[in-house]
Amino acid sequence: MGNRFIELPGIVLNSRRFGEINKSVELLTPSHGILNVVAHGATKTKSKLAAASDLFVSGKFQLYHNPVKDDWSIKSVSNLVQIEMIRNNVKVYALTGLCSEIIRYTYAGGVADKVFKLFDVWLRLLERGPSLLELQVCQFILRFLAFAGFYHGSQDCSICGDSIQTAAYLTQDFSIVCKGCNHIGTYYLEREILDYIDYSLRFKLVDAYKIELEQDKVMKLFDILVSLLEDFTNRKFSFLEYYKTVRN
Ligand SMILES: [Zn+2]
Repeated sequence: MGNRFIELPGIVLNSRRFGEINKSVELLTPSHGILNVVAHGATKTKSKLAAASDLFVSGKFQLYHNPVKDDWSIKSVSNLVQIEMIRNNVKVYALTGLCSEIIRYTYAGGVADKVFKLFDVWLRLLERGPSLLELQVCQFILRFLAFAGFYHGSQDCSICGDSIQTAAYLTQDFSIVCKGCNHIGTYYLEREILDYIDYSLRFKLVDAYKIELEQDKVMKLFDILVSLLEDFTNRKFSFLEYYKTVRN
């Protein structure tokens, strides 16, 4: 029987009322994936767990695991980080929610340790301001796909192996195929967008944000990636619907 108390770094992906006064929290952790944990009494304003169970906060969570019921609860949180920009800007809030839904509906792509680090850095970089937000989400998704083993660059067709010249298509499982191997249900991507993807992925996230891509191409890439992820997870992202109402 292992330790019942454990301290884990975590990010709150989802939080909802559970019973009269509790909250049920989906917590992303590097070592344990996404844990469903209960924050007892967290809906009370005076509760020390109220802030710790807010959406998209991060910190070190002291958790208790009940081995009989196999459930988890939060005892306390230290080093709590709340990103002010998420509370102050509805578009930032909507797109942060979209990233959290992508993580939740894919079970962190089976690579929670890498996705945790990615999301943690991504959240902290939000404090720099809301400009280029869709580009930031594209960078989040592309890195997520690369970590999860879906994206391997755009140099060669994933079916016939020929090198991709001008036209390339993105399939529903995120493979790149050439014009000849193209089939129904794929998305066309210009070489310029593909070059942007491959080039920017060589850099750290903070530096990748500095690589420019025209706004209409950013929006096209954003729409394609999010549509593919909705198909792939067979879910509708509620934060995407919310984003559409607040983006202007
Ligand atoms: Zn081909």
